[in-house]
Amino acid sequence: MEKFEVIIIGGGTAGLSAALTLGRSRKRTLVCGSGAPRNQPSHQAHNFFTRDGISPTELLCIGQEQLAPYNSVQFRPETVVKACTKDNGFEVILENGTQLDARRLLLATGVIDELPAIAGLNELWGVSALHCPYCHGWEAQDQAIALYGKGQVGFDLCLLIKGWSNDLVLCTDGSADLTDEQRALIEKHNIPIREEKIVRFEGKDGHLDTIVFTDSQVLARTAIYLRAPQRQRSELPKLLGCEIENGFVKVNDFGQTSIPGVYAAGDMITPMQSLPYAAFSGTRAGAFLNHELLAEDFS
Ligand SMILES: Cc1cc2nc3c(=O)[nH]c(=O)nc-3n(C[C@H](O)[C@H](O)[C@H](O)COP(=O)(O)OP(=O)(O)OC[C@H]3O[C@@H](n4cnc5c(N)ncnc54)[C@H](O)[C@@H]3O)c2cc1C
Repeated sequence: MEKFEVIIIGGGTAGLSAALTLGRSRKRTLVCGSGAPRNQPSHQAHNFFTRDGISPTELLCIGQEQLAPYNSVQFRPETVVKACTKDNGFEVILENGTQLDARRLLLATGVIDELPAIAGLNELWGVSALHCPYCHGWEAQDQAIALYGKGQVGFDLCLLIKGWSNDLVLCTDGSADLTDEQRALIEKHNIPIREEKIVRFEGKDGHLDTIVFTDSQVLARTAIYLRAPQRQRSELPKLLGCEIENGFVKVNDFGQTSIPGVYAAGDMITPMQSLPYAAFSGTRAGAFLNHELLAEDFS
């Protein structure tokens, strides 16, 4: 059976960053990556030092290309379906049935955004249905913007997105669940609150035109911000027994999970989600994994 020092599961920004660190550390490393990165629906990625405006696909192509000089690293476009502890290491099984051994594992499998089930929303996601102003705020500045959310979430969006546009409408899709104090502040900033249920979003090529409410009222808007609940993209952290807290895989300051020998990086470990953070946490996990292996071999 083929044996690696580290198998990285997930070939997004976090996984590829970790692979670069481990490759340069001369650790025999395999990256198994399948599927699209989380930001794939967006045409451009922003707010990433030296790469502002790059397409998500091109970013990962560069990441893979820059692994090529390191003969210590392999990339396979494969899904890992199972991972478990074995002897002093781990066994990994790919979708095609291949079994592999590794001394250590690094999970970088990302999260899934669970969008509210409202007609037309999926088609807008990443283009005009936005999750983060640091990623998209500049491009949508001064536009007619809807904010989707009730209670604290809706209030926080009003406060945050005010930095990018004065033309805001809070759409709570049912009762707003705001405190009197929150409502007064939102009104003070001239942000109308629409509590009608939303029936559908209408637009073209990913661009929002209109929000349609249950009573057939319509609201013209060109972008909408929302905070979608998330879940882990892969069952592997649970299968391996990694501790999960508030939906995120718990790691220490070195990127190590609660299971010895298993590290994790990227969106799956934190609500502070961005490409720079994924790159940082992948690099961190790679460096500490390398150190752990060196220490074991030195002892
Ligand atoms: C619409 C949208 C736009 C965004 N725009 C920006 C932006 O402009 N700037 C910015 O900084 N951030 C942006 N983000 C956030 C950014 O996309 C994430 O922070 C980043 O992609 C996290 O990288 P990751 O490697 O942790 O996860 P991901 O990018 O999700 O990569 C994980 C990879 O692992 C793969 N995988 C999962 N399970 C397995 C398995 N079992 N076997 C093999 N492979 C597996 C997945 O298919 C995926 O390819 C955006 C997010 C969204 C939703």
